[in-house]
Amino acid sequence: MPTPLPPDYHLHTPLCKHAVGAPAEYRAAAHARGIEEICFTDHVPTPDAYDARHRMALSDFPTYREMIAALQDENLPKVHFGIEADYYEGCEDFLRQWLPAQNFDLVLGSVHYLDDWGFDSPDELPRWSSVDVPSVWRNYFDCVVRLANTRLFDVVGHFDLPKKFGHRISETTLKAAAVPALDAVAAAGMGIEINTSGYRRPAKEQYPAVLLLSLARERNIPICFGSDAHQPEEVGHEFETAIAVARVAGYTQTTRFEKRRPQPLAL
Ligand SMILES: [Zn+2]
Ligand SMILES: [Zn+2]
Repeated sequence: MPTPLPPDYHLHTPLCKHAVGAPAEYRAAAHARGIEEICFTDHVPTPDAYDARHRMALSDFPTYREMIAALQDENLPKVHFGIEADYYEGCEDFLRQWLPAQNFDLVLGSVHYLDDWGFDSPDELPRWSSVDVPSVWRNYFDCVVRLANTRLFDVVGHFDLPKKFGHRISETTLKAAAVPALDAVAAAGMGIEINTSGYRRPAKEQYPAVLLLSLARERNIPICFGSDAHQPEEVGHEFETAIAVARVAGYTQTTRFEKRRPQPLAL
Protein backbone atom coordinates (compact mmCIF):
# COMPACT_ATOMS: atom_id res chain seq x y z
CA MET A 1 0.00 0.00 0.00
CA PRO A 2 1.38 3.45 -0.85
CA THR A 3 1.54 5.95 2.03
CA PRO A 4 -1.78 7.79 2.10
CA LEU A 5 -1.74 11.46 1.22
CA PRO A 6 -1.48 13.77 4.22
CA PRO A 7 -4.65 15.09 5.88
CA ASP A 8 -6.27 17.99 4.04
CA TYR A 9 -6.90 20.61 6.70
CA HIS A 10 -8.28 23.50 4.69
CA LEU A 11 -11.77 22.93 3.28
CA HIS A 12 -14.58 25.46 2.92
CA THR A 13 -18.36 25.10 2.74
CA PRO A 14 -21.08 27.07 0.92
CA LEU A 15 -21.81 28.92 4.17
CA CYS A 16 -18.95 31.30 3.27
CA LYS A 17 -20.90 32.45 0.18
CA HIS A 18 -18.04 31.79 -2.26
CA ALA A 19 -17.69 27.97 -2.14
CA VAL A 20 -19.84 25.25 -3.71
CA GLY A 21 -20.57 21.62 -2.85
CA ALA A 22 -21.95 19.87 0.21
CA PRO A 23 -19.46 18.83 2.92
CA ALA A 24 -20.27 15.17 2.11
CA GLU A 25 -19.06 15.79 -1.45
CA TYR A 26 -15.75 17.16 -0.15
CA ARG A 27 -15.41 14.09 1.99
CA ALA A 28 -16.17 11.77 -0.93
CA ALA A 29 -13.58 13.61 -3.03
CA ALA A 30 -11.00 13.16 -0.25
CA HIS A 31 -11.77 9.45 -0.10
CA ALA A 32 -11.32 9.13 -3.86
CA ARG A 33 -7.94 10.90 -3.54
CA GLY A 34 -6.71 8.46 -0.88
CA ILE A 35 -6.85 11.03 1.93
CA GLU A 36 -7.75 9.50 5.28
CA GLU A 37 -8.40 12.62 7.33
CA ILE A 38 -9.86 16.04 6.59
CA CYS A 39 -10.71 19.15 8.54
CA PHE A 40 -13.29 21.71 7.52
CA THR A 41 -11.89 25.16 8.23
CA ASP A 42 -14.47 27.56 6.88
CA HIS A 43 -14.07 31.32 7.22
CA VAL A 44 -14.76 32.47 10.77
CA PRO A 45 -17.89 34.49 11.49
CA THR A 46 -17.18 37.87 13.04
CA PRO A 47 -19.25 40.08 15.34
CA ASP A 48 -18.32 43.36 13.63
CA ALA A 49 -19.29 42.92 9.96
CA TYR A 50 -15.59 42.53 9.01
CA ASP A 51 -15.63 41.17 5.43
CA ALA A 52 -19.18 39.90 5.95
CA ARG A 53 -19.70 39.02 2.29
CA HIS A 54 -17.00 36.31 2.35
CA ARG A 55 -18.10 34.40 5.46
CA MET A 56 -20.96 32.89 7.40
CA ALA A 57 -22.91 35.04 9.83
CA LEU A 58 -22.58 34.23 13.52
CA SER A 59 -26.17 32.98 13.34
CA ASP A 60 -25.05 30.40 10.72
CA PHE A 61 -22.42 28.91 13.00
CA PRO A 62 -24.72 26.28 14.60
CA THR A 63 -25.57 25.09 11.07
CA TYR A 64 -21.85 24.79 10.31
CA ARG A 65 -21.28 22.77 13.46
CA GLU A 66 -24.23 20.45 12.69
CA MET A 67 -23.18 19.94 9.05
CA ILE A 68 -19.73 18.79 10.09
CA ALA A 69 -20.94 16.75 13.10
CA ALA A 70 -23.23 14.83 10.74
CA LEU A 71 -20.09 13.51 8.96
CA GLN A 72 -18.26 12.45 12.12
CA ASP A 73 -18.85 8.69 11.99
CA GLU A 74 -16.60 5.62 11.91
CA ASN A 75 -15.92 5.79 8.18
CA LEU A 76 -12.84 7.21 6.49
CA PRO A 77 -11.84 9.88 5.89
CA LYS A 78 -12.05 10.97 9.48
CA VAL A 79 -13.66 14.41 9.65
CA HIS A 80 -12.43 17.18 11.94
CA PHE A 81 -14.05 20.46 12.87
CA GLY A 82 -11.99 23.59 12.46
CA ILE A 83 -12.07 27.20 11.42
CA GLU A 84 -10.00 29.64 9.37
CA ALA A 85 -9.91 32.66 11.64
CA ASP A 86 -8.82 36.03 10.28
CA TYR A 87 -6.29 38.09 12.14
CA TYR A 88 -7.04 41.80 11.83
CA GLU A 89 -6.81 44.86 14.05
CA GLY A 90 -9.51 44.52 16.69
CA CYS A 91 -10.23 40.78 16.24
CA GLU A 92 -8.72 39.69 19.51
CA ASP A 93 -11.36 40.41 22.15
CA PHE A 94 -13.96 38.34 20.33
CA LEU A 95 -11.65 35.48 19.33
CA ARG A 96 -10.11 35.17 22.78
CA GLN A 97 -13.45 34.28 24.32
CA TRP A 98 -15.14 32.64 21.31
CA LEU A 99 -12.50 30.25 19.90
CA PRO A 100 -11.89 28.20 23.08
CA ALA A 101 -15.66 27.74 23.56
CA GLN A 102 -16.13 25.89 20.23
CA ASN A 103 -14.12 22.70 20.80
CA PHE A 104 -12.31 23.02 17.49
CA ASP A 105 -9.78 20.47 16.27
CA LEU A 106 -7.78 23.13 14.44
CA VAL A 107 -7.70 26.91 14.20
CA LEU A 108 -5.95 28.34 11.16
CA GLY A 109 -4.87 31.96 11.46
CA SER A 110 -4.92 33.95 8.23
CA VAL A 111 -4.25 37.52 7.15
CA HIS A 112 -6.52 38.52 4.25
CA TYR A 113 -6.67 42.28 4.92
CA LEU A 114 -4.14 45.04 5.37
CA ASP A 115 -6.14 47.87 6.95
CA ASP A 116 -9.20 48.19 4.73
CA TRP A 117 -7.67 46.41 1.73
CA GLY A 118 -8.56 42.80 1.00
CA PHE A 119 -5.29 42.38 -0.88
CA ASP A 120 -5.99 38.79 -1.99
CA SER A 121 -9.49 39.47 -3.29
CA PRO A 122 -9.85 39.55 -7.09
CA ASP A 123 -12.29 42.47 -6.61
CA GLU A 124 -9.55 44.54 -5.01
CA LEU A 125 -6.77 43.66 -7.44
CA PRO A 126 -6.60 47.16 -9.04
CA ARG A 127 -5.19 48.62 -5.82
CA TRP A 128 -2.00 46.61 -6.32
CA SER A 129 -1.07 49.00 -9.16
CA SER A 130 -0.95 52.01 -6.82
CA VAL A 131 1.03 50.53 -3.91
CA ASP A 132 4.70 49.92 -3.19
CA VAL A 133 4.90 46.13 -3.47
CA PRO A 134 7.83 45.56 -1.04
CA SER A 135 6.00 47.70 1.56
CA VAL A 136 2.90 45.54 1.18
CA TRP A 137 4.98 42.44 1.88
CA ARG A 138 6.60 44.05 4.93
CA ASN A 139 3.21 45.15 6.29
CA TYR A 140 1.83 41.70 5.66
CA PHE A 141 4.58 39.91 7.60
CA ASP A 142 4.31 42.50 10.42
CA CYS A 143 0.68 41.39 10.64
CA VAL A 144 1.76 37.73 10.79
CA VAL A 145 4.07 38.62 13.71
CA ARG A 146 1.11 40.15 15.55
CA LEU A 147 -1.04 37.14 14.64
CA ALA A 148 1.53 34.77 16.17
CA ASN A 149 1.98 36.93 19.25
CA THR A 150 -1.73 36.65 20.12
CA ARG A 151 -1.26 32.88 20.75
CA LEU A 152 -4.84 32.45 19.51
CA PHE A 153 -4.14 30.24 16.47
CA ASP A 154 -2.57 26.84 15.80
CA VAL A 155 -1.29 27.21 12.24
CA VAL A 156 -0.66 30.15 9.88
CA GLY A 157 -2.64 29.79 6.65
CA HIS A 158 -1.10 30.53 3.23
CA PHE A 159 2.05 32.04 4.75
CA ASP A 160 3.19 34.14 1.76
CA LEU A 161 -0.21 35.12 0.39
CA PRO A 162 0.82 38.49 -1.16
CA LYS A 163 2.32 36.55 -4.10
CA LYS A 164 -1.15 35.29 -5.09
CA PHE A 165 -1.49 37.49 -8.19
CA GLY A 166 2.22 37.42 -9.02
CA HIS A 167 3.45 40.44 -7.04
CA ARG A 168 6.94 39.19 -6.26
CA ILE A 169 9.89 40.76 -4.50
CA SER A 170 13.58 39.81 -4.48
CA GLU A 171 14.65 36.85 -2.35
CA THR A 172 16.71 39.17 -0.15
CA THR A 173 13.75 41.45 0.54
CA LEU A 174 11.44 38.48 1.04
CA LYS A 175 13.77 36.85 3.51
CA ALA A 176 14.28 40.06 5.48
CA ALA A 177 10.53 40.60 5.70
CA ALA A 178 9.61 36.99 6.51
CA VAL A 179 12.25 36.01 9.08
CA PRO A 180 10.68 37.97 11.97
CA ALA A 181 7.35 36.28 11.18
CA LEU A 182 8.97 32.83 11.09
CA ASP A 183 10.70 33.57 14.40
CA ALA A 184 7.40 34.67 15.94
CA VAL A 185 5.63 31.54 14.65
CA ALA A 186 8.38 29.33 16.10
CA ALA A 187 8.27 31.18 19.44
CA ALA A 188 4.50 30.70 19.58
CA GLY A 189 4.86 26.95 18.98
CA MET A 190 2.64 27.26 15.92
CA GLY A 191 2.75 25.44 12.60
CA ILE A 192 2.49 26.67 9.05
CA GLU A 193 0.30 25.30 6.32
CA ILE A 194 1.51 24.15 2.92
CA ASN A 195 -1.44 25.53 0.99
CA THR A 196 -1.79 24.27 -2.57
CA SER A 197 -4.33 26.85 -3.76
CA GLY A 198 -1.39 28.88 -5.10
CA TYR A 199 -1.14 26.35 -7.95
CA ARG A 200 -4.57 27.52 -9.08
CA ARG A 201 -3.54 31.21 -9.06
CA PRO A 202 -0.99 33.33 -10.95
CA ALA A 203 1.50 32.49 -8.15
CA LYS A 204 1.68 28.98 -9.71
CA GLU A 205 3.21 27.38 -6.64
CA GLN A 206 2.30 26.39 -3.09
CA TYR A 207 2.26 28.83 -0.18
CA PRO A 208 4.90 29.18 1.15
CA ALA A 209 7.73 29.15 -1.38
CA VAL A 210 10.46 26.58 -0.83
CA LEU A 211 12.88 29.26 0.42
CA LEU A 212 10.53 30.16 3.29
CA LEU A 213 9.74 26.52 3.92
CA SER A 214 13.44 25.77 4.35
CA LEU A 215 13.71 28.64 6.84
CA ALA A 216 10.68 27.19 8.66
CA ARG A 217 12.36 23.78 8.77
CA GLU A 218 15.51 25.34 10.28
CA ARG A 219 13.27 26.65 13.07
CA ASN A 220 11.56 23.25 13.61
CA ILE A 221 8.20 24.75 12.67
CA PRO A 222 5.76 21.88 12.00
CA ILE A 223 3.76 21.79 8.78
CA CYS A 224 0.38 20.52 7.69
CA PHE A 225 -1.27 20.46 4.27
CA GLY A 226 -4.33 22.28 2.97
CA SER A 227 -5.92 22.53 -0.46
CA ASP A 228 -8.06 25.55 0.49
CA ALA A 229 -10.79 23.80 -1.50
CA HIS A 230 -13.81 25.94 -2.35
CA GLN A 231 -15.28 23.10 -4.44
CA PRO A 232 -15.03 19.32 -3.99
CA GLU A 233 -12.79 18.87 -7.07
CA GLU A 234 -10.07 20.89 -5.34
CA VAL A 235 -9.65 18.55 -2.34
CA GLY A 236 -6.06 17.29 -2.16
CA HIS A 237 -5.14 19.45 -5.17
CA GLU A 238 -1.43 19.08 -6.10
CA PHE A 239 -0.63 17.33 -2.81
CA GLU A 240 1.92 15.04 -4.50
CA THR A 241 3.78 18.14 -5.76
CA ALA A 242 3.55 19.83 -2.36
CA ILE A 243 4.93 16.73 -0.59
CA ALA A 244 7.91 16.78 -2.94
CA VAL A 245 8.51 20.46 -2.13
CA ALA A 246 8.25 19.74 1.61
CA ARG A 247 10.88 16.99 1.23
CA VAL A 248 13.20 19.36 -0.66
CA ALA A 249 12.88 21.76 2.30
CA GLY A 250 13.92 18.91 4.63
CA TYR A 251 10.56 17.84 6.04
CA THR A 252 9.88 14.16 6.74
CA GLN A 253 6.74 14.68 8.82
CA THR A 254 3.42 16.43 8.58
CA THR A 255 1.13 17.11 11.54
CA ARG A 256 -2.22 15.79 12.71
CA PHE A 257 -4.44 17.96 14.87
CA GLU A 258 -7.17 16.74 17.18
CA LYS A 259 -8.75 19.07 19.74
CA ARG A 260 -5.98 21.51 18.78
CA ARG A 261 -3.23 19.12 19.91
CA PRO A 262 -0.52 18.47 17.29
CA GLN A 263 0.93 15.01 16.63
CA PRO A 264 3.64 14.27 14.06
CA LEU A 265 2.73 11.99 11.17
CA ALA A 266 5.22 10.49 8.69
CA LEU A 267 5.13 11.99 5.23
ZN1 LIG B 1 -12.56 31.50 0.85
ZN1 LIG C 1 -7.56 32.10 3.47
